[in-house]
Amino acid sequence: MDIFTLHTGDSPLIISSPHSGTHVPDAIKAKLTPAGHDLCDTDWHVDRLYNDYVRVNGATFIRANYSRYVIDLNRPPDNQALYPGQAKVPLCPDFTFREEPIYQDGLAPDDNEIAQRLKTYWQPYHDEIAAQIARVKAIHGYAILWDAHSIRQHIPLLFDGDLPDLNLGTAKGASCAPDIENAAMEVIKKSPFSHVLNGRFIGGYITRHYGDPAHNVHALQMEIVRSLYMDEEGYKYVPDSAAKLITCLNGVLDAVTHHAGTRVATKPIR
Ligand SMILES: [Zn+2]
Repeated sequence: MDIFTLHTGDSPLIISSPHSGTHVPDAIKAKLTPAGHDLCDTDWHVDRLYNDYVRVNGATFIRANYSRYVIDLNRPPDNQALYPGQAKVPLCPDFTFREEPIYQDGLAPDDNEIAQRLKTYWQPYHDEIAAQIARVKAIHGYAILWDAHSIRQHIPLLFDGDLPDLNLGTAKGASCAPDIENAAMEVIKKSPFSHVLNGRFIGGYITRHYGDPAHNVHALQMEIVRSLYMDEEGYKYVPDSAAKLITCLNGVLDAVTHHAGTRVATKPIR
C-alpha cells in the first residue's frame, strides 16, 4: 500500500487530505482494541467531496492512505501540542476522541516505534507536499494549499457544544493573505451553512507549517461537520446530502483560486 495517493494538476491549487486514510498495517492492527479497529476519528470520505473538482479544474490532490491512528500527519514531528491548554492529540494517539483506548493493554507504541512511524509514514507525505508546492510555484509564482478535514459535530474532549458546519482556519491570518481569506469567507457567508473563521480549529501543522503568504504560499484548513455528507452510524457516504456541500466548496475553491490569480497578476512576485 502506497503511503499516499497523488493526483497532479497544473493549477495553483493543492488539496491535502491527511486524515481520510483507513489502511492499518497488519502488525499494528493486531495490537488494536475494537474501538481502535473502528477508526471512528477518520475524516471519512472527505476526499470524495473534492475528487470531481480536482479533475475538472486541474488541481493537485494528495491523500493519505494510512489511518491517523498509525500516525497523525497534521501534527508536528516533535509531538508538541497544537493547541496548548487543550486536550493533546499526539502524533500516535493512544485514545479515540470518545476517550476509548486505541491499543490493547501495554501495546501502545513506544518512542522508538513512534520515531519509526514518523520516518515511514509522516515524512514521505510531507516531502511530497513540499515538492508539490515548489512545482506549482514554479508554474504560477504562487500556490494555494487547502488542507481538507471533517469531524463529528460534538466531541466533548475537544470542544464544548456543537461545532459550526464549516470551520475555516488560517492560523489566525498567519498562513494566508487577508484578501484570499476574505474571498473564501465571502462565499461561505452566502452559503446555507453555519460557519466560523479561526474558531476552535485555526489550522493544524500542515496549515501553519506551509502557509507562508510573504512567499506566495497561502494555506487554509477547512474542517467540515461530517453529518453534512455522511451517516455517522455506519460511516456511509450520502451523496444526496453531500451535493449541496460540494456546490459550496466548489464555489469557495473557485473564489480563492481566482482571487489569488488576480492579485499575483497585479503585484510583483518576490
Ligand atoms: Zn482531520
